[in-house]
Amino acid sequence: MSKTLTNTFATKLVAWHAVSGRSGLPWQGNRDAYAVWVSEIMLQQTQVATVLERYPRFMKRFPTVKKLATADIDEVLAEWAGLGYYSRARNLHACAKQVMTEFDGKFPRDPILLEQLKGIGRSTAGAIAAFAFHERAPILDANVKRILARLFGVEGAIQDKRVNDRLWDLAVDLLPTKPTDMPVYTQALMDFGATWCTSRKPVCLGSEKKCPFAKDCQANLSDQVLSLPQKTKKTKSPEFNCNMLLMRSGNSILLQKRPSKAIWGGLWSLPEGSWTPRVSSAKDVQISPQELFAATLPEEKFAALAKVCQSIKQAEEIKHVFTHRRLWMQIWQANTPKESAFSNPDLKWVPLTQLGRYGLPQPIKLLLQGLNLVRGDDLKN
Ligand code: SF4
Repeated sequence: MSKTLTNTFATKLVAWHAVSGRSGLPWQGNRDAYAVWVSEIMLQQTQVATVLERYPRFMKRFPTVKKLATADIDEVLAEWAGLGYYSRARNLHACAKQVMTEFDGKFPRDPILLEQLKGIGRSTAGAIAAFAFHERAPILDANVKRILARLFGVEGAIQDKRVNDRLWDLAVDLLPTKPTDMPVYTQALMDFGATWCTSRKPVCLGSEKKCPFAKDCQANLSDQVLSLPQKTKKTKSPEFNCNMLLMRSGNSILLQKRPSKAIWGGLWSLPEGSWTPRVSSAKDVQISPQELFAATLPEEKFAALAKVCQSIKQAEEIKHVFTHRRLWMQIWQANTPKESAFSNPDLKWVPLTQLGRYGLPQPIKLLLQGLNLVRGDDLKN
């Protein structure tokens, strides 16, 4: 390991941040651990531009850890709708409760204790400890892994435990000595990875900007910038079909609460059948009301519903791409003259005008708007 680089990295990075770092983000400069935590969780897997819009709204609705802990989970999921990766919202809610019951409503400052909270991994714990408590705790998100793998020429796939451990060791070795430098250093690391040492266009490749680490960076010196960090080969994501029932009765539609561990866990969606591997487009497949209801409703009522169903037609085929799979949803529209009651509390008739109170998956929101059943405003809570 280059001793010079290890000794000078933090100072150079902080100096770089003073000139080229990002500033004015609403969560920056905040020492409230709750505010830092919400921003860190929201920024995982969500673009900064989206977080800029949604973070102030979330904080206005749940301004304290207590408010979040005492809110209903449906309210939290409704506020999170559209941000994806809903386990984050469920974990936020569970973690807020944990902070209230186990830590008297105050986030612990020790990163090891932070890591024991629901949904907080080592890197997020480091970010909270550094920003809110000036603890000398490292972060190692995907951007930081890239920077360190390039700077120190770390080879091997970053999913590999040995490589990951090595990167954590480097992240610890590079920390600034003064705890008061921790917030700006941590922010600088995030900014440098997001804007300068980027995955596809790092500034050392053809940009006019001069990277402060160019002379020491192993990847730059050995012409390996774009091949580090090494990635494992991607396999093609599997594709699935599923039938979904858009059942209307007057101005209400039938919604079903999704199991908390499933995709879109805890959100309200259209009743759906099981996912089957996609062999070809199911666009022209015909289905009887009996088959459709039996496939989508986990209820004793489907035979009776099929009898009173006035019409059924295939409305749409929509595709949604998840991180590791693609889903083709065949949407079947059906009408029934009156709302039959369901004993299952996870099935509910909801007036179209009240849909905004429920957390709905984004593709379902778009579908309902596309079919002119609701306007965007009706879906805001
Ligand atoms: S020289 Fe290039 S690869 Fe190395 S740290 Fe700078 S921007 Fe990243």
